[in-house]
Amino acid sequence: MDQIAIGKFISECRKEKHLTQAQLAERLGVTDRAVSKWETGRSMPDASIMLELCEQIGITVNDLLNARRIEMNNYKEIAEKTMLEMRRHEEQASKKMLMYEVVVGIICMAVFLVLTGVAALADIENRIKIILIATGLLTVVGYSLIALRIETEAGYYECPNCGERYVPRYRSVLFAPHINRTRYMRCPHCSKKGWHKKVLTKEK
Ligand SMILES: [Zn+2]
Repeated sequence: MDQIAIGKFISECRKEKHLTQAQLAERLGVTDRAVSKWETGRSMPDASIMLELCEQIGITVNDLLNARRIEMNNYKEIAEKTMLEMRRHEEQASKKMLMYEVVVGIICMAVFLVLTGVAALADIENRIKIILIATGLLTVVGYSLIALRIETEAGYYECPNCGERYVPRYRSVLFAPHINRTRYMRCPHCSKKGWHKKVLTKEK
């Protein structure tokens, strides 16, 4: 998926509809900054808003993702290709977030170890030792919050009972026992409890 080309295409279609970025933003309930970011290819519209955006500028989601208007006769073929690419795109984004979680985790753990190590071994005032240990703990707590957010939002969890793949609520992830990325949670679909595995995409 070429974000720059998609952005240009959004801009073209918006102008065809004689809308300013601000007008389009208002209709979609987003900031004009968000529209500007889409049009310059710095970000993609959220899936939740994509359909509404396409309606407003008179194209289909398939047109949008291919950055051009698709003829009806090869529509199906291109739609399938688009689905595949979207899935790959999503998978890569999730993978990146989960990798980021690991890297930041290692850095935070190193910071924690260095700070507590210095506090334990260095010949410094107690007051400073306490500050070092507190900073180390805050780093770990801060990291845990970021990691939980990533665990919640990157990819999906799969219910072993009904096979539903879903994005859980932050709170259920927070309180769920876990082994690596597999969490013991209640399925929002069949409401059975079980060990839900982290998966990268919605489709199997
Ligand atoms: Zn289920």
